Amino acid sequence: MNKKPTVELEAQRSVLLRQLRQAGPLVEGSIAMVARKCGSSGCPCAQGVVKHQAMILCKKVNGRSVATYVPKALWSEVRAWNREHKKIKRVLKDLSTIGEQLIRNHVGDRRGAARVRPPLRLLAVEPSGRR
Ligand SMILES: [Zn+2]
Repeated sequence: MNKKPTVELEAQRSVLLRQLRQAGPLVEGSIAMVARKCGSSGCPCAQGVVKHQAMILCKKVNGRSVATYVPKALWSEVRAWNREHKKIKRVLKDLSTIGEQLIRNHVGDRRGAARVRPPLRLLAVEPSGRR
């Protein structure tokens, strides 16, 4: 992995944290459009001609797929919430990656300095008596 300087990582982290603070409403899952009958006997869909579309939001819960029916009035909103969830998920992943890199950089930055320092003293010493 190519190593980025700590200052650069911290700058990237600031940008991502700002995106996180500016997050809007969000919802997890994948959107699917399905055909359905409306239940009205006077509607062509009752004759098997599928005329209606329904939106469902699918999500895996403990390995099982769970679907939530989305009313038509919320379609565009739910699409936006779902996009926001994907975006924030990516932001969280990137923030975590930066966190890991910062930890590695910290260890790397200190390694040189540690060599000239006296050896670390143990904070706790096991009793020396043999059992
Ligand atoms: Zn119908």
